[in-house]
Parts: sequence; structure tokens; C-alpha cells
Amino acid sequence: MAEDCLFCKIIAGDIPSRKVYSDESVYAFHDINPAAPTHILVIPKKHLKAVNAAGSEDEALLGKLLLAANKIAEQEGLADEGFRYVINTGDQGGQTVYHLHLHILGGRQCTWPPG
Ligand code: AMP
Ligand code: ZN
Repeated sequence: MAEDCLFCKIIAGDIPSRKVYSDESVYAFHDINPAAPTHILVIPKKHLKAVNAAGSEDEALLGKLLLAANKIAEQEGLADEGFRYVINTGDQGGQTVYHLHLHILGGRQCTWPPG
């Protein structure tokens, strides 16, 4: 748990969230400002400030994050039509919350290139 981290506070239950999934290492909840009909954030319970802050000791954790996202996408009924995963990283990557999170976006046609 990192001091003054919004997503650590959500994991701890100090800030409310609409939980979608939880296991020993991953937590997922609905984005408060959805950019698609389905917009879920999947986060590691361990505080990592961004995806590139992960080290070799986090190899399994990164795998668990993706596999949990796959399970959630399936449960949310997105697997057939498709969906998008996004990990914004750093200022130019559009990251605003500095606790690693994977966005699941689904329920509409995504466009390419992204903005
Ligand atoms: P990013 O810009 O990739 O760092 O994404 C941060 C995401 O967190 C944004 O999509 C926000 O809408 C979302 N967000 C911020 N505060 C909350 C909150 N309290 N509960 C749920 N989602 C949040
Ligand atoms: Zn955190």
C-alpha cells in the first residue's frame, strides 16, 4: 500500500468502487468515467506505479493481471465481439493515476489509431 495512492485506497476499501473481480493478487472495478459501454480497470494489489516499474520479481503478477482481464472480458460478454486493453504509461502515454492499471474497453467499435 502506497501513501496517497487512489487505487491502493480502493483496494483497501477506503474509497468505494464497483467491484467486478478480486483474487489474492488482482482487483478489478468499473471506471468512474467510462469511455465505452463496458470500461473496467484491472489492477495488481501490489502497488506498482506503472507497467514499466515492474521487475523480474513481478513476472508472474503481470501474467495474472492479463489472465484475470481475459476472464473478466469473457464474463462481461466481450469475448465474441472483441474488446481493447489499454495500459497508459507516463505523462505522454496519458497516465493520470500512478498505480498500474489495465483498461478493458468493450461494447462499441474501437478505432485505430487511438488518440
Ligand atoms: P489513466 O488515465 O490510464 O491513468 O486512467 C485512470 C482512470 O481511472 C481514468 O479512466 C479514470 O476515469 C479512472 N478513475 C479515477 N478515479 C476513479 C475512481 N475513484 N474510481 C474508478 N475509476 C477512477
Ligand atoms: Zn497504489
